[in-house]
Amino acid sequence: MLTAEILRVVNSAFFGAKREVKTAVQAVTLLGNRALRNLALCLAVRDAVRPGAIPKFDLMSYWEDALRRGVAARLIARRVGFDGDEAFTLGLLADFGVLALFFVRPDLAPQWPEWRKMGPDERREAEQRSAGLTHDAIGLQLARAWNLPAGIALPMACHHTPEAPVVPVHHREACRIAQAADYVASIYGSEDATAALARSRRVLGQLFGLKPEDADAIFEAIPAAVEEAAQSLGLRVAAQPRFEEILRAANQCLVAANNDYETLTQRLEQALEEKRALMRKLEEANRKLEQIAFIDPLTELLNRRRFQEVSSGEIQRHSRSGQWLTLVMIDLDHFKRVNDTFGHATGDEVLVAVARVMRETLRQTEITARLGGEELCCVLPETDEPGARVAVERLRMAIEAIDIRTPAGKVPVTASLGVVTWRGRALTQPAVEATLKLLLDTSDQGLYESKRSGRNRATHMTVNS
Ligand code: GH3
Ligand code: MG
Ligand code: MG
Repeated sequence: MLTAEILRVVNSAFFGAKREVKTAVQAVTLLGNRALRNLALCLAVRDAVRPGAIPKFDLMSYWEDALRRGVAARLIARRVGFDGDEAFTLGLLADFGVLALFFVRPDLAPQWPEWRKMGPDERREAEQRSAGLTHDAIGLQLARAWNLPAGIALPMACHHTPEAPVVPVHHREACRIAQAADYVASIYGSEDATAALARSRRVLGQLFGLKPEDADAIFEAIPAAVEEAAQSLGLRVAAQPRFEEILRAANQCLVAANNDYETLTQRLEQALEEKRALMRKLEEANRKLEQIAFIDPLTELLNRRRFQEVSSGEIQRHSRSGQWLTLVMIDLDHFKRVNDTFGHATGDEVLVAVARVMRETLRQTEITARLGGEELCCVLPETDEPGARVAVERLRMAIEAIDIRTPAGKVPVTASLGVVTWRGRALTQPAVEATLKLLLDTSDQGLYESKRSGRNRATHMTVNS
C-alpha cells in the first residue's frame, strides 16, 4: 500500500519525476534510495497523527506550517547547493516534536493558536514555560526512537542551535537550513510579519550570503510550493496568502510602528538590553579564556608564561621601592620513584597537594606557579633573607607533613628548595629580563646544592645587582 502511495507522490507535480515512474524498482533507479527513504518518511510522519487524535487541535494548521518549513528548506537548499528533497524532509520534520507534545499533553492544545502566531524562538520559550521542555528536545527523542539517520535527526534536535558544539561540522549546514527555514516560514505564519521578514533576510544573508533580493525570491515562491506539496502529499491546506499581501501588511505595520513612538523606544530598549546581556556573556567567556591561558589546570597555580609576566612586574616594583624580594624554586624529591611505586595518578595527587600547601603556607604571596613538570616556584614580595628562612622552613615542613595514603602504603613526600633573596635596580625591559634569569639560575643552583647535600632541605643565597 505504501508502494502505491509512494508511486503516486513520486509522479506528482511537487516531487516531479521527469518521466512517469511505474514501479518501485523504477523509482529506486530513477530517484535513488535516499530520495525514496525521504518520501516514505514524509508519508509515515503525515500518518503518524490521525485527524482528531488530539482533541481541539487544528491539525491542518500544523501541517500548513510544517509544509512551509519543508518548502522553505527546499528552496534555500537549492540556492546553496544542498539536496532539495533531503531539505524538504528535514524542514517537514523539524517541528514534529510540537505535534508529539500536544499528543501527550492535549491539555496544552488550546495554546496552539497563540503559539502559532509567535516567531520560532519565542514559541520555543513558550513551550519551555508551559510544558517544561521544548520540541527540539522531543524531536531528538523521537528521532532516536525511530532510528532516523543523523542527517534528519540532528536538524530535528538542533535547528534552534545549529552552532552548538554537539553538531558535527558536516551536519551543520542541514541544521542551519532547518533553522533558516523556520524563520522564513514564520513570515507566513507569525503575527509580526515585519519582524519575521527582517529576521529572515538577515539570517539568509548571514548564514548563506544571500542578497535581500535573492531572499525575497525564496519568500515569494513559498505559497505556490506549499499548495503543490500539500496536494502531492494528500494534505489539505487553506489557500495560501501571496507574498505581496504579506509585504503590504508588513509595510502597513511598519508605518504604524514608526508612528508609535512608544513602541519604538521599547524596541530600542529591548535591543539595548539584549546587547548588554550579550556583552556580559562575552565578558564571562573572556574571563574563562583568560583563566585557561594563565592557570595550570592540574594544580591551579600560575603557568610559566603568567609567572614570567607577574614576577617581572614584581622586580620592577621592588626596584623602585628598594625592598628585598625572594624567589623560591621547589623540586619534589625522588618524584619519579613516587610515580613508579604508586602510579602516575597518585603522583598527580601529590602535585595538587603540594600546590595547596604552597598557597596555604605562603599567604603573603599571590605568585605561586608551576613552571613545568614537578618544578614549582614562588615569589615572596618584600621578604629579606631572615624572613625567607622562616617562610621557607615552614613550607618545607608543611610539604613533609603531606599525608597521602594508598593501598601500597603512605606516599613519602619531600621537596628540595633553592632560595634567592635579591635587592637591586632593574627598570627597563631588558634589565628586568636579565634579573629574572639571574634569579631563576641562582635559585636553580641552590636547588642543586640542596639535592646534592641530601634533599628535603633549602639552600639560601643572596644577590645584589
Ligand atoms: P630528584 O629528587 O632528583 O628530583 O628525583 P626525581 O625523580 O624527582 O627527578 P627527576 O626530575 O629526574 O624526575 C621528575 C619526574 O617527575 C619525572 C616525571 O615522571 C615526573 N613528573 C613530571 N611531571 C609530572 C606530572 O605532571 N605528573 C606526575 N605524576 N609526574 C610528573
Ligand atoms: Mg626534577
Ligand atoms: Mg624531582
